[in-house]
Amino acid sequence: MTAALLLAKYGVASTIYEAKPERDPIGSKALCMQRDVLDILERVGCGRPLVDEGVTWQMGRTYYRDSELFQITFHDAGISAFPPFVNVGQDRTEFHLERAVDAEPLVELHYASPVTDLREDDNGVAITAGSRDPSRFDYLVGADGARSTIRKLLGLDFPGRSFTDQFLICDIRAQLPFENERRFFFDPEWNPDRQVLIHPQADSVWRIDWQVPPDYDLDHDEAGGGLDERIRKIVGDQDYEIVWMSVYRFHERIASAFRAGRSFLAGDAAHIVSPFGARGLNSGVQDADNLAWKIAFVLNGWADDALLDTYEIERRAAAEENLRVAGTTMEFLVPQSEEGWELRRRTLAAAVGNPRAREMVDSGRLAEPYWYTESPLTTIGPHDPEMMNTPPGTARPIVPGVLCPDAPCALPGRADIGRIRELFGSGFTVLAVGDPEWAVAAAAARSDAPVAGFDLRAIEPAGLMRDALQLGEGEAALVRPDGHIAAVGLRDPSAVGAAISTALAR
Ligand SMILES: Cc1cc2nc3c(=O)[nH]c(=O)nc-3n(C[C@H](O)[C@H](O)[C@H](O)COP(=O)(O)OP(=O)(O)OC[C@H]3O[C@@H](n4cnc5c(N)ncnc54)[C@H](O)[C@@H]3O)c2cc1C
Repeated sequence: MTAALLLAKYGVASTIYEAKPERDPIGSKALCMQRDVLDILERVGCGRPLVDEGVTWQMGRTYYRDSELFQITFHDAGISAFPPFVNVGQDRTEFHLERAVDAEPLVELHYASPVTDLREDDNGVAITAGSRDPSRFDYLVGADGARSTIRKLLGLDFPGRSFTDQFLICDIRAQLPFENERRFFFDPEWNPDRQVLIHPQADSVWRIDWQVPPDYDLDHDEAGGGLDERIRKIVGDQDYEIVWMSVYRFHERIASAFRAGRSFLAGDAAHIVSPFGARGLNSGVQDADNLAWKIAFVLNGWADDALLDTYEIERRAAAEENLRVAGTTMEFLVPQSEEGWELRRRTLAAAVGNPRAREMVDSGRLAEPYWYTESPLTTIGPHDPEMMNTPPGTARPIVPGVLCPDAPCALPGRADIGRIRELFGSGFTVLAVGDPEWAVAAAAARSDAPVAGFDLRAIEPAGLMRDALQLGEGEAALVRPDGHIAAVGLRDPSAVGAAISTALAR
């Protein structure tokens, strides 16, 4: 739905086939939405309603038994419109996206329409969905989840590994005196040698996530009173109501290719990770964002097919980073050997008094947008390669490839305060210190793609963006339609022309 709505912004029509008879009204799954992903959703009108409905949190705490080990807070390279994380159930994200789809004449959504076959030739893909005759399309985006039929129809593999330990996840409604924070407990007395994660949600609902043994049986636990006992250890004598629950095993897999001819894989169909880090739905929305402008540019004749190959290059690199980071977390949470368990026990016990041991404790590194610094679309700037070695969760330098930060600004023709990121999403953007027209003209001379230019001195006099992008007087930066910086420090028309050609994969 995100990809379809973003395509519609470029005038590209699409059809969504969904196997289910209707939208799943319950079942929360993804909970933590990252701020830059909320920004993408805001471009299709869904970010703000999700923030308003959800619970904002700024702090994550990690405990070992009764001791608090460390806290995590989140760096903001600019002044973002949204908080670092908002907890809102995936059912609500899907609700708002579906509402936006219903209001968008360029998108058709058909339920009860499982895709069962696809045939490709030089002119398009013929897709069979439900009982209707095959329909022809220019491109296909297979966003049909971890068990993707489209991946199988394309003959692509899904290599990786699965974990044996299970996780029991309950959303319960109860009046509890907890703060709006992510709280991660290693080995609490109420779940010894395993962990529990507690997340706040709106309407006094709490997500409780227990690591349980490989042979855990939820029906048996519930019938025997074990589940109630488990919940009571956290909520005490309070009344509670179970809103949703499920038992999961987690997997780490990446499809053998993200593109096969005119077909692409996105979201869980392309990659799955454990949810400790909220890198699932968040990265799926980022896939859609990366792919939509590229498909739209090719269909509108503004770029060649080579641009579409960079979807796989950029999003595979992102998926690999997500797998590496979430995989390291899982190694700590669910060691795969007795030595691993022993190391975990020793590390946690030492972490109470030893800062170096504390650094080795991994309770999840939360989702961040990937840097396309090594992408063929990025014009590498004059930065120190050492800067790139920042671990997840630390402040990231603003270099080409990175998502452009946000800041309040004055938007032409608008009386209220706008935001820099509102300038993105419909073409390339030139941000200049001084008159941007020379750079816009230089870009237009090389490409028919839409390019808009802004003088940062006029729209953002506070100078936050100029400083973040390290732009000198008369210099310009080129920003991609998805808000990632394509090039900085552009001083003359030929540099702009080269940067836009690079950003279009020419
Ligand atoms: C317990 C849990 C907690 C999680 N928490 C988070 C979190 O906090 N943050 C986060 O970012 N991620 C989280 N995730 C991951 C997140 O839920 C997934 O990454 C996300 O649902 C992937 O979205 P998707 O659209 O790619 O696939 P899905 O949500 O699986 O959607 C695929 C859709 O395709 C449909 N479909 C399947 N086959 C066909 C077919 N042949 N034809 C047509 N339609 C078909 C399905 O019915 C489904 O509606 C969590 C996951 C779990 C299990």
